[in-house]
Amino acid sequence: MTQLNTIQENLRVIQKRIEHACKRCNRDAQSVKLLLATKTVSPDRIKYALKVGYTLIAENKVQELKEKYNDLLDTPHTNHFIGHLQTNKIKDLLKCNVACIHSIDRLDLAEKLQQRLEYENKTIDVLIQVNTSLEESKFGIHPDKAIELVKQVAKLNRLTIKGLMTIGRFSAEEYLVRHCFVRLRNLRDEIKALHLPNVCMEELSMGMSQDLEIAIEEGATIVRVGTAIFGERIYPDSYYWNEQRA
Ligand SMILES: *Cc1c(COP(=O)(O)O)cnc(C)c1O
Repeated sequence: MTQLNTIQENLRVIQKRIEHACKRCNRDAQSVKLLLATKTVSPDRIKYALKVGYTLIAENKVQELKEKYNDLLDTPHTNHFIGHLQTNKIKDLLKCNVACIHSIDRLDLAEKLQQRLEYENKTIDVLIQVNTSLEESKFGIHPDKAIELVKQVAKLNRLTIKGLMTIGRFSAEEYLVRHCFVRLRNLRDEIKALHLPNVCMEELSMGMSQDLEIAIEEGATIVRVGTAIFGERIYPDSYYWNEQRA
């Protein structure tokens, strides 16, 4: 039981952190959605967070999403997907009722997704993942190529581009982290000004346990939080995106 109480307490702390950050930059706290990053978290513990009143959750791996899917069916929630997506996993992903994929970072992936969605007569929301830190270990399209990718993906009528996503640099130097988020916001503004059909740039998915305040100050509308709610993970981040945290 203590573990579950801890999740509730952690959620309260995160909510306060979001509210304080919003206050500092004159934003409405309602304008920031909290997404629970649930990789390695058991269905029981996810359900507990959902029962506290949060509804938006996301996995990193299709296999893990599949494994937990049935256990979570009777607890109302919305699934997003935030991990690197291989084209051969698209079919399985679409079985799990995912509302939005945050990690579209290449045209062939978007095209394969379009094909499968046509076949199933479905549509999906997506975000374009941008590698704002320019670290080789991170997934995402290079910022200089992001606008071209958005233009191409915009032609795929089964996908609606809702905005952009990034993972900020893991660094103790705040300005380096902030630079990533500023870069994503500037890209968002540039794309918005193009008024592309099938593209609405309302979401900026950025900010995690360590840097959500900076992300909110720079315009995040979705913060993705795992560790600060569910505790340290048993797998290192390198298991998810080839990286050791500094
Ligand atoms: C795990 C994960 C998060 C959350 O990271 P924490 O540091 O645990 O808050 C956010 N985004 C992505 C893409 C993740 O894989």
